[in-house]
Parts: sequence; C-alpha cells; structure tokens
Amino acid sequence: MGIIKRMRKIILFKIVFFIAGFSCLFSLQDTDGSGFADSDVTLDFRSLQQGDIVRVSVEGKGIIRKAEVLFLGETYIMGRGEESGHWLAFLGLDLGIKSGTYTIEVSLLFNDGHHRNIRREILVKNREFTTKKLWVEQDYVTPPQDALDRIQWESELLGQIYDIFTLQWYGEGPFIIPSDGEPNDNFGERRIFNNEPRSPHSGVDISSPHGTPVKASNSGRVVLAKNLYFAGNTIILDHGLGVFTSYLHISNILVERGEMVRKGDIIGEVGATGRVTGPHLHWGVKVSGSRIDPYSLLSLN
Ligand SMILES: [Zn+2]
Repeated sequence: MGIIKRMRKIILFKIVFFIAGFSCLFSLQDTDGSGFADSDVTLDFRSLQQGDIVRVSVEGKGIIRKAEVLFLGETYIMGRGEESGHWLAFLGLDLGIKSGTYTIEVSLLFNDGHHRNIRREILVKNREFTTKKLWVEQDYVTPPQDALDRIQWESELLGQIYDIFTLQWYGEGPFIIPSDGEPNDNFGERRIFNNEPRSPHSGVDISSPHGTPVKASNSGRVVLAKNLYFAGNTIILDHGLGVFTSYLHISNILVERGEMVRKGDIIGEVGATGRVTGPHLHWGVKVSGSRIDPYSLLSLN
C-alpha cells in the first residue's frame, strides 16, 4: 500500500467541532474500492436525529459533469457551491423520520465519461420532544365553516411552493438568526391547543417585541409574502437546492413575492398575526419537504 493511500485511510474519519454545534466531516466509503483519486465527498451535520439537516459536498478533482444524491428513494441533483469545483446537496431528516439506518448514495459523472458511486450508511437516532399546552382563540383550534376553503387552498399553495426545486445555490456563507430576542429551543414540541392535540411545532419561536426587525437568514428569492389563516403574515425565502426558510406572525411585510434578498436584509417586523399567544417570530426551515430544526441549519458553517 502506497504512503498516500495509507494517509487517506488515516484521515478517513475526521471530527471537527464548530462553535454553533458539532459537525462531522468524513470521506464516504467508495463502493468500487478504488480510492478517492478524483473526488472527495463530505457529510456535514450537527447530529443525526429527527429535524437535522445534512449537507453533502463534493470536491471534484477531476471535472464533474453531473452529480446526484440518492436518499430515501428520491434523487437530488447537486448544484454548484460557492467555490469553484464544489458541488452541494442538502438532505432533511424530517421531524417524523423513524430512527434507524439509512443509505446516502452519491453518483458522479465525470467529463471523460466515467462514473463513480459512493455510498454511506447513517444511523438516525430518536430525539426527545416535550409537550406543551397553549390557549388561543377557539377559531384557531376549530376554524369556522367559512374559513375551511381558505385553509385548504393555503395548504395546497404551501405544498406547491415547497415543491419548487431551484438548481442554483443562492446562499452566501452561513445562515444567521433572523431576529434579536429570546430564542426558544421548542422545535418538535408536541402541542395541545385548548385541550386538543395539534401538529408538532415545526420551527423555533424567538420572543421579540412587536416591531423588531426580521432579517433574511441568508440570500434567496421571496416565494411567498402573504397573510395566511394560521401563520398570519408570512414570508418564505427559497435559498436554492430545496432549502427554504419561513418567517411567521409578522406585523409588517417589507418585501414582495419574486424579489431577491441578501442575507441580513430587513424583510419584515415581528408581530402577533395568526394563531399566537403573543408577539414573537416563528422561524421555520424546510429542506425538500422535510421539517428541519433551524438551529441545525445554523450549525452548518
Ligand atoms: Zn412557532
């Protein structure tokens, strides 16, 4: 075994601690066993639990023509990252994913026509979630008959928006917290409204006074800027490659659908619209349809 091959084996497993959390960087098992001569694949994540995001990056030493990731029966086309020769995909471990072993397969097609498939198994662990009782206006628990069509239409609209897959990465560096205030680590909380169980909490709430600026967590396109029945005034940004952030219960929306925003731009103001118990920003993240803990996104550097 040559010294370079031996060195590669030694660096196969590297653990790097970041300030915001803990991410793992390691090369994947090459299914044809011929080493990593023309590509290195890296997985980056905070932990492997319900609600975590996994970033798959490929550093192409040869020239890659096409890169794809196969995960949970879906194919994700990789896009070009912020640095040249860098390819990216984001995978979501949904809030409801079952614990167990899952396979991530990266498929690369090089300019000279040869293929390489790289496979890795990940072990997803259970996360504990707390239960909370909340009291809101009864119309937000059992909506009146005349609101049902609107709720149904809005749910279909959100489905269409989260189906968008933009094959371009708009993000610029790490994501940022969108508002000053007291962050609550309440992603996935089981919720009981006026004594009736409802869907688990699919974001985090940042307690801030009415009128506090809401910033774009990263650069992207505004794909929704609209009042919704439960979410109140809502903004959704598409950052590309299946990654969306949402900002709910806003008092004042300062952007329009279709507009491009830069990371840190003020897009709205904190409010108390929709189903709330007081002013706060509900910040949500979706990755190709999966409900993701925003703090897991923040831990990607
Ligand atoms: Zn919330």
